[in-house]
Amino acid sequence: MQIACLDLEGVLVPEIWINVAERTGIKELRATTRDIPDYDVLMRQRLRILDAHGLKLADIQHVIAGMGPMPGAHEFLNQLREKFQVIILSDTFYDFAAPLMKQLGHPTLLCHRLKIDDDGRVADYHLRMPDQKCEAVKALHHLKFKVIAAGDSYNDTTMLSEADKGILFRPPQNVIDEFPQFPVTTTYDELYGAFLAASEKI
Ligand SMILES: [Mg+2]
Repeated sequence: MQIACLDLEGVLVPEIWINVAERTGIKELRATTRDIPDYDVLMRQRLRILDAHGLKLADIQHVIAGMGPMPGAHEFLNQLREKFQVIILSDTFYDFAAPLMKQLGHPTLLCHRLKIDDDGRVADYHLRMPDQKCEAVKALHHLKFKVIAAGDSYNDTTMLSEADKGILFRPPQNVIDEFPQFPVTTTYDELYGAFLAASEKI
């Protein structure tokens, strides 16, 4: 039995924080780990900015619901689910992803959790464990599953390396250059084709 593991942001849905920044007009929320490499420092800054603008979870969820998945993502996911058990491995938070999961037909998602105050304010965040994408693939291997994984960026590369086959989808040039072992795809047809090709070889 083969399992397909997919990254979420940049593969099925747009980058959540960048879209929240654009849709709320709060430019400081555009910062990513490329600007602030320490994830904890970055998240604390994001939570401070949300507070400063009085944005609560419901406001952000409303913005995220309006983003929607990327065009063709839902159809691709349905197609993939006919051939594979699909698990989405993401470093986002359930509270943010919920409106998008609804639009994708509620696929299985493993990610992190926010701590929400009684008044709906985002008080803190909780990472289930470090490098959970890679650890999830290791756990699936332990259960004797073969794994094919696809992702778009740096935080996917340990998952892609751990998988029996890894595939890149619309990655930035630096990831292409640093990880030439992974095939690069740019459309959902190509990505689906890469999953089928990988499936034959493992
Ligand atoms: Mg991504």
